[in-house]
Amino acid sequence: MAGILVIAEAVDGALAPISGELIGAAKKLGGTVTALVAGNEALAQQLISAGADNAIAATNSALADGTADAYVPAVQAALAQTGADVVLLGQTSLGRDLGPALAFKLGTAVAMDCVELKLDGGKLRATRSAYGGNARAEVGFRNSPAIATVKAKSFDAPEGAAGSGSVSSIDAAGTPRVRVTGTSKAETTGIRIEDAPVVVSGGRGLGDADAFKQLEALADLLKGATGASRAACDLGWYPPSQQVGLTGKTVSPNLYIAVAISGASQHMAGMAGSKNIVAINKDADANMVKVSKFAIIEDYKKIVPALIEEIKKLA
Ligand SMILES: Cc1cc2nc3c(=O)[nH]c(=O)nc-3n(C[C@H](O)[C@H](O)[C@H](O)COP(=O)(O)OP(=O)(O)OC[C@H]3O[C@@H](n4cnc5c(N)ncnc54)[C@H](O)[C@@H]3O)c2cc1C
Repeated sequence: MAGILVIAEAVDGALAPISGELIGAAKKLGGTVTALVAGNEALAQQLISAGADNAIAATNSALADGTADAYVPAVQAALAQTGADVVLLGQTSLGRDLGPALAFKLGTAVAMDCVELKLDGGKLRATRSAYGGNARAEVGFRNSPAIATVKAKSFDAPEGAAGSGSVSSIDAAGTPRVRVTGTSKAETTGIRIEDAPVVVSGGRGLGDADAFKQLEALADLLKGATGASRAACDLGWYPPSQQVGLTGKTVSPNLYIAVAISGASQHMAGMAGSKNIVAINKDADANMVKVSKFAIIEDYKKIVPALIEEIKKLA
């Protein structure tokens, strides 16, 4: 394989977490990893520190708005420079637009929202959810470069792996046909669920919205965030912004405590990457119990207050 081109992203002058995750995914595949970011060479240098073998600063200011029109010629120039036969993007607002636009322009294909990547005979194979999260499809590519967008939190950034490669710059850019009139940040209070080392999530089995107060108390003690299944969000018990799963947030905390959540495939799609899963469920046959490292088979109303008391004693 000739190499992998990662399309990194930055927010407020610093690399976005997806950039490290993409570099981690690329390094797992092997081959030379070149990462491109819109911005100056100092920003591109951060990609080397994040583990990329080489970095390219795409300096044209037309890229600032993150439109596919502007990015396509920049990526084409980077491909000409690197000869990469795999392009990885995040499943972000940029990647969702740029992946298909790039595939069309290059006469190749894109696999969207991938959660696993591997090489088979030197060719990329990508795994993604299918049939509303009830199945996983593995897809291959006939043409080069193979393009894949990667779901957030599906891969870890490389640990302490600062590369020593070179930084170059390109000025290519297209003319955007859309104009971005403004952007706004989603409001969050406390720690973002995607970044929390501990997530305590509740499901339909909680019985009512009030029970989430207990989960919030437990999450606070563990310095974590509170999440919910879609069933609980649909019932209006918890904000949709905290929904975990296929159509919600993807999380990969050190500890995921699933309280009264059955473990439907669509929920698992958002938290299966958690390092340690603890299930609190009345049903010993629930899927969440089966995939958990530790399970407590009991009514959560007995367990959660007891856990809170015990953790308070340790504090
Ligand atoms: C296209 C599509 C996308 C979807 N996206 C998502 C998504 O992003 N996220 C998501 O979560 N779901 C999603 N779903 C819905 C998903 O299929 C499930 O319906 C949902 O996850 C079920 O939520 P739940 O586990 O909270 O509820 P249930 O499946 O009803 O499970 C409740 C659990 O609580 C347990 N329980 C009951 N009482 C107690 C008690 N007192 N103490 C302890 N345990 C108790 C039960 O044993 C059971 O295991 C999606 C579905 C589709 C079709």
